[in-house]
Amino acid sequence: MNVAQWLVRTARLAPDRLALLLGQRPIAGYGELADRVRRIAQGLQDLYGVSAGDRVAVFMPNQPAYLEVLYAVWHLGAAVVPINYKLHAKEARFIIEDAGAALVFIGRAGALEDVGFDGAVRPAIVAVESDDYRALLTSTALVEPAARGRDDLAWLFYTSGTTGQPKGVMISQGNLHAMTFAYFVDVDDVRPQDTALYAAPMSHGAGLYNFMHVLRGAAHSIPESGGFDPAEILDLGKALGSVHMFAAPTMVRRLVDAAKAAGETGEGLRTIVYGGGPMYVADIVEAVEVMGPRFVQIYGQGECPMTITALSRHLVADRTHPAWRDRLGSVGTAQSCVEVRVVDETGADCGPDKSGEITVRGAAVMPGYWRNPEATATAIHDGWLHTGDVGKMDAGGFLTLTDRSKDVIISGGTNIYPREVEEVLLQLDGIAEVSVVGAPDPDWGEVVVAFVVRRPGYTITEDDLNRHCLANMARFKRPKRYAFLEDLPKNTYGKVLKTDLRRQLT
Ligand code: AMP
Repeated sequence: MNVAQWLVRTARLAPDRLALLLGQRPIAGYGELADRVRRIAQGLQDLYGVSAGDRVAVFMPNQPAYLEVLYAVWHLGAAVVPINYKLHAKEARFIIEDAGAALVFIGRAGALEDVGFDGAVRPAIVAVESDDYRALLTSTALVEPAARGRDDLAWLFYTSGTTGQPKGVMISQGNLHAMTFAYFVDVDDVRPQDTALYAAPMSHGAGLYNFMHVLRGAAHSIPESGGFDPAEILDLGKALGSVHMFAAPTMVRRLVDAAKAAGETGEGLRTIVYGGGPMYVADIVEAVEVMGPRFVQIYGQGECPMTITALSRHLVADRTHPAWRDRLGSVGTAQSCVEVRVVDETGADCGPDKSGEITVRGAAVMPGYWRNPEATATAIHDGWLHTGDVGKMDAGGFLTLTDRSKDVIISGGTNIYPREVEEVLLQLDGIAEVSVVGAPDPDWGEVVVAFVVRRPGYTITEDDLNRHCLANMARFKRPKRYAFLEDLPKNTYGKVLKTDLRRQLT
């Protein structure tokens, strides 16, 4: 089944229901959206020869046209290649060429101007709101969505490439079905009166959450800023009334700070799904204290999009449970369409509470990397995706992530998990952010180094940090060095770039 059917279905059922907004301003109902999608699909076929099986890249900032472009491509049976709009044009070119995209939608004229495509086939480039785009809409044909099977490619997702060139993760139609249905079982419900707010890049997780809202006939709002502005989000929550949004932990932190400063609680923000990076216990405790039970956690990766584990709203907020804190520090339990195992180097189950690599198998796991069988063979063994994440699972099935395997520090032959050290440091009042990495050391192999960002107005010293560590963690885990920074280096999705931090040490 083609995911484009979901839009057709909702448009038939509720053509007048509001589908799209720019901030608070209504743009289109479901009937109109579906009509535009059909026209664009037909235009893509007639004017550019795009057909089922082709790839169409989308190099656009968050904007209302994003959704109609995605659905038009699916309508034709082609696959989308959403590219983070914050990438440099040359980085985007790498992805466009690697994907063999037939056409690229860009957000503004000239976005790919300086990029010469040296591949054999030069993709067509169409800027939204240009004459070329309007020409797509003049088609009058009203074709039905192309037939698609479970294994057909729907979304080619390029990994953020924090280590080397990005790889294209093939996300099939079936993966998207599994992800969407598991959301309703494991993460949250969606109601027609809800609004999905796209405050994080639609090329990534936030965009993947469109499906649940299309299926339920909920609305979709693109903030006028096009991105994450905490004050704007607090206002939109109040104005729209029942908002869903995906936020990286660093965004949650900024939102909580803004709510606190304004004396607000995040009224109208019904569900904030967080994930994509570690959420420290001190941060989520404060988030719930300030904003209440609005938070649900997911753990996923491009290779198993949004769908490895989930920690429900109830578990996040239930202070009365004896294991509340431990659970808060976990990423929850396996989502219903996948199995999760923690394994050692030989692939054997680690058993409860022992650290190993997290592996996952099931309907949400990618079939492989695009035109890269070697990388696929490295990542998937007997159907089990090796995530490269290290963690442990308790007897109740709660998974706690420690780190990416490449981030684990080995000091004097002992494994030190940076996440544990970070959690302890963050308990100290006045620390805004922290990131722990290993530095090469002739005696120990590696030693622990902490990069610390202080909150404004705090004068925490190395002595304060040392005292706090001595009182709260084993001596061998204690950072041997501290570096104070204004900000941590992050990629465009808000993930801390530990590779950059390590580079600062050499
Ligand atoms: P990406 O493929 O860019 O979405 O990155 C996926 C990676 O982000 C995972 O392999 C984890 O290392 C990290 N990640 C995702 N969700 C979480 C979470 N809830 N807690 C900690 N790390 C996470």
